[in-house]
Amino acid sequence: MEDIAKLIDGFKQFQERYFGEESSLFAALKCEQKPKTLVIGCSDSRVDPALLTGCAPGDLFVVRNVANLVPPCEHDGAYHGVSAALEYAVCFLEVEHIIILGHSGCGGILALLEGNSQGKSGEYISKWVEIAGPARDLVQRQLADKPLRIQAVACEQISLLISLENLLTFPWLRERVEAGSLFLHGWYVDISSGNLFCYLPSSGRFELLV
Ligand SMILES: [Zn+2]
Repeated sequence: MEDIAKLIDGFKQFQERYFGEESSLFAALKCEQKPKTLVIGCSDSRVDPALLTGCAPGDLFVVRNVANLVPPCEHDGAYHGVSAALEYAVCFLEVEHIIILGHSGCGGILALLEGNSQGKSGEYISKWVEIAGPARDLVQRQLADKPLRIQAVACEQISLLISLENLLTFPWLRERVEAGSLFLHGWYVDISSGNLFCYLPSSGRFELLV
């Protein structure tokens, strides 16, 4: 129960910080949220978007899933959690930025690269990460002689680009990007060095941002 006690203590600190006499943040936030940015991040415990960017409640609308993936727009009547969050952020909250936040050491991408050979792909993971299947295929074609960690970084970054492309398959999202009212960003955190990289379409590379 020690782990849960830590969380409850953490909430007490949150309460003192945001609901104490000196804070008025939730006076405004309790009725509505107006975040300007949607972040699509990985569920990995080490890459919390708000912690990484020093954001306060109300700043970010966040979707987190295995390997920070965006599926393409599909009209098949299935349950689409990421698409629903995208629709809400873009069409109703009218966010101005979407950041896809990838990271090094991603277990989801490793599962994609290794298939079920390590027995970690499960029933749902292997199907889900197949969204980035073309990234794995490219890496295994072009970097077959490189160590797995090099392949993994390449696959993490290429899969992020696939998700950026998939964003544009949603017509209401593409319209806003083309009209200049919505901007897309591909960010990649190296959790071994602590550096943040940003994808630059002009160079086709991830360049050091911070
Ligand atoms: Zn991950």
